[in-house]
Amino acid sequence: MASDQEIIRELWERSSNEEIVQALFICPEEYSPEALEILTGVAQRRGLERPEAALLDRLRAERQVAEAASDRGKPLVVCDKSLVCHACGHDRFRQRSGLPESALAGLLGLESDRPLRCAICTRCGYVHWFA
Ligand SMILES: [Zn+2]
Repeated sequence: MASDQEIIRELWERSSNEEIVQALFICPEEYSPEALEILTGVAQRRGLERPEAALLDRLRAERQVAEAASDRGKPLVVCDKSLVCHACGHDRFRQRSGLPESALAGLLGLESDRPLRCAICTRCGYVHWFA
């Protein structure tokens, strides 16, 4: 059984140089310290360097536009660990939240005024619930 860290490493090893540069230099705040450490290792082995400031600014702007236009989802950090889809191993999710129906809240032993949250895998649709 592979550990979460091995799964994250495996995912990044399969990612393109562009994806790695983006994660490491453009939106590092979306990743856990462990994920960034793994990313740094992969980037070093591939000889990837930090892009110049002007290029970084352009990439950041492009990313914002692309994010607004697409529904690819985002990486998610839960308790300092990157969430990896339990079904398919993907690492991008759409988040939803809402108040549970009172009958459902009663069944699950939850307060009906506290929102239930879920992260939906954008590849396979598996729903990860958080109460
Ligand atoms: Zn999935």
